Amino acid sequence: MYIESIELKNYRNYETLSLNFDKGTNIFYGDNAQGKTNILEAVYLCGTTKSHRGSKDREMIKFDSDESHIRMYVNKNGISRRIDMHLKKTKAKGIAIDGIPIKKAGELFGILNLVFFSPEDLNIIKNGPGERRRFMDLELCQLNKLYLSNLSSYNRILNQRNKLLKDISFQPSLMSTLEVWDEQMASYGSAVIEGRKAFLDEMNGIIEEIHSKITGGKEKIELIYEPSTDSEHFLSELSGNREKDCRFKMTSTGPHRDDLCVKINGMDIRKYGSQGQQRTAALSLKLSEIYMVKRKIKDMPILLLDDVLSELDSNRQNYLLNSISQVQTMITCTGLDDFIDRRFHINKIFKVVEGN
Ligand code: ATP
Ligand code: MG
Repeated sequence: MYIESIELKNYRNYETLSLNFDKGTNIFYGDNAQGKTNILEAVYLCGTTKSHRGSKDREMIKFDSDESHIRMYVNKNGISRRIDMHLKKTKAKGIAIDGIPIKKAGELFGILNLVFFSPEDLNIIKNGPGERRRFMDLELCQLNKLYLSNLSSYNRILNQRNKLLKDISFQPSLMSTLEVWDEQMASYGSAVIEGRKAFLDEMNGIIEEIHSKITGGKEKIELIYEPSTDSEHFLSELSGNREKDCRFKMTSTGPHRDDLCVKINGMDIRKYGSQGQQRTAALSLKLSEIYMVKRKIKDMPILLLDDVLSELDSNRQNYLLNSISQVQTMITCTGLDDFIDRRFHINKIFKVVEGN
């Protein structure tokens, strides 16, 4: 699959922009604050309905405009499809596929697979568990429609349960209604737990070889799922914790508390790894994502690399650049020296200057 083109209207610092991409490597270079990341964000938004930096719709609309439009043509197996996104200041965004409006973001599922890699991703091992959960979820939601629906139901019920826990402190009689929520939470939550378990099992089969290659055979990596509870005991833990949850006014157990442990040669690198080890493991995780998508959909995802090359040493840069030869890639950077020095093959170069 590849993206043929994108058009922006009143999006971030772009008044209008129309770009045709190459199927191979596309480079966006320019000084800081010119609009390089904004282009990758627009691509990601069209594929997933969300900004990779978690921005709200109204923040992406060009200052002084009321709405913005993005149009993207995606080609999969020789068939070209059009995705339209219409961002509004106060209302929900409108999305259409080939001109037909869709109601749920889930309907975009399967049209486009993207892997976004930004400098923050290099800190995924060092940072808190929330980001490691996000890593698992972002990937799983792109690959597994059922997971996407179970996770969103779980999150919805978790919010409702937490709200109820707050209300119970004013109205203790509501306590009896918790049971109904707990059953639903356990049902969706167990599916999320099983989904993550299977995902990491499969990921382990991919990442080991990648990481071993990057580290010249010195490091053996292993991903270990650390669920806050297992699926069989989730319901009984929820009811066992009811009193405590009421006291703290939040749900203390469940997939929203899970973590992912990354071990290298048997050592937990979240706690004991050097910075370099943590960053290399993060790179391996990201590269594994590409191959995971390939295995699942029998096609390569599109890779968006936002300023990551400058964050890697020369060995790791080489490894990354050599692994992406069959993937459509959009790379942002401030200069072209890294590519020229390596004689790395670039298919198309865009110079980005003040939203042009
Ligand atoms: P860097 O190299 O520093 O990462 P960049 O080229 O990736 O820079 P972007 O993040 O793409 O820069 O764009 C930043 C520019 O977009 C800033 O100048 C900012 O003022 C502008 N910008 C952000 N949001 C909006 C908006 N809603 N309307 C207009 N301009 C915006
Ligand atoms: Mg940027």
